[in-house]
Amino acid sequence: MTPSGTQTQLGTITHWIGGKPWEGSVARWGDVYDPALGEPTARVAFADHAVVDEAVAVATQAQKSWARTSLAARTRIMFAFRELIERRKRDLAEVLTREHGKVLSDAVGEVNRGLEVIEFACGLPHLIKGEFSENVSTDVDSYSIRQPLGVVAGITPFNFPAMVPMWMFPIAIAAGNAFILKPSEKDPSASLFCAQLFAEAGLPPGVFNVVHGDKAAVDAILAHPGIQAVSFVGSTPIARAIYENGTRQGKRVQALGGAKNHMVVLPDADLELAADSAVNAGYGSTGQRCMAISVLVTVGDTADRLLPRIQDRLRRLKVGPGLEATAEMGPLVTKDHLARVVSYVEQGEKSGASLIEDGRRTTIAGHERGFFLGPCLFDKVTPDMSIYSDEIFGPVLSVVRVETYDEALQLVNANAYANGVAIFTNDGGAARRFQNEVQVGMVGINVPIPVPVAYYSFGGWKSSLFGDAHIYGREGVQFYTRGKVVTSRWPDPRHRGVNLGFPQTH
Ligand code: NAD
Repeated sequence: MTPSGTQTQLGTITHWIGGKPWEGSVARWGDVYDPALGEPTARVAFADHAVVDEAVAVATQAQKSWARTSLAARTRIMFAFRELIERRKRDLAEVLTREHGKVLSDAVGEVNRGLEVIEFACGLPHLIKGEFSENVSTDVDSYSIRQPLGVVAGITPFNFPAMVPMWMFPIAIAAGNAFILKPSEKDPSASLFCAQLFAEAGLPPGVFNVVHGDKAAVDAILAHPGIQAVSFVGSTPIARAIYENGTRQGKRVQALGGAKNHMVVLPDADLELAADSAVNAGYGSTGQRCMAISVLVTVGDTADRLLPRIQDRLRRLKVGPGLEATAEMGPLVTKDHLARVVSYVEQGEKSGASLIEDGRRTTIAGHERGFFLGPCLFDKVTPDMSIYSDEIFGPVLSVVRVETYDEALQLVNANAYANGVAIFTNDGGAARRFQNEVQVGMVGINVPIPVPVAYYSFGGWKSSLFGDAHIYGREGVQFYTRGKVVTSRWPDPRHRGVNLGFPQTH
């Protein structure tokens, strides 16, 4: 395996344990597809209990000396890793496109957002500084320190195979932990690309490990007493189960789940900006983003003016293989997922919503077996329809028409998910009121995908996040470290009989 990640070089994808590819025998494999071709391109090893045990044993050993390595040396390795990712960005993006299907420009954007967290982690020495209080009692000082947890694990989804793991491991590793990553089995190569660049950057073997697989690997991670904390990102039912199972087994867990993000458009909004934003956020990455907009809430007569603008843009959107320079929207990730999204389009039609753009007839010459679906747009959607209530995770945008701002707010706040939300308006007072009243973790004002920069933290509310800590930023640092407070008294030599020659003062 080399980081260039081409089909012939990939062949067989296996775990990465102790700074090198794992060489044991594999009982179960999964297929990895090129979604634009609709064909398998590699097979990936699935880990069982024994592989996870081995990874934890290696990581536990490596973590002991890694935690003793100076902050300066740890940070230097993180800087070197950052430089390598920056230099190999385009290669990593190609790996993402080949397995996930997203267009190359989007894949480069994904790596750039991950890089921001690596850069944030380069500043870790500053972020884990403790506090010091002198003379809290006579001759007694108190101070706080933050220490790594030990071995921690990350379990990640298919839709950002580079960025989501990068939300986790740079901070965890810079803080002195060893990390075990269980990436999505649908697009596993990006994690190995990172592992190899970490090795080149000088990270000691065993500090960053990758185990591939499915539920069996995840269950082994949750059950292992040697793993102190688990970060999970994926769908809500699995996030809930991971949180309940992991915490029951005494682990610290942050589990980020699914989403149904609304974009509210008030009548005074800049409709050209709103139309661009709805298309970018609704159909970018073929709707497979946890911050994608999947519901457009139009207030008053806005829909009649906004929808023709959106339809005009959708008709010009170029659907095609992600590696083709002209493509703006790639395929869905798997055949099963394509079938699932299409079944939602059928349900939407049956339930009485108007399908005003239908992407089901999209075929791409030379890629007839690819998992393509063109943009779909439903008008007159109501909250009782499954296309409204369920996370579809595809290029399907639902328009719900309401009469007032209050109705729009009520709709958003009644939803079970609460990851991201956006409001489009030119009224600062309305935007400010919305920011205060909306019960959602990440809010955009005239910004459709308000993913926080690396020095804030990412996370939703309600069924979009289980656990107390949001991911990356300061909350990420807190999550991967634990605090200790020391109260210390050093006997003053003046209290003893021996004179050590200190200058005498009064
Ligand atoms: P998923 O929940 O199917 O899988 C996520 C991870 O869990 C994968 O590594 C997978 O192998 C593992 N997994 C799957 N089934 C499991 C089971 N039964 N038991 C234990 N582990 C299991 O999610 P996905 O389809 O890969 O990704 C899409 C989902 O992720 C969407 O719901 C999306 O909203 C969500 N997501 C959320 C965020 C966020 O920040 N909130 C970010 C990205 C994606």
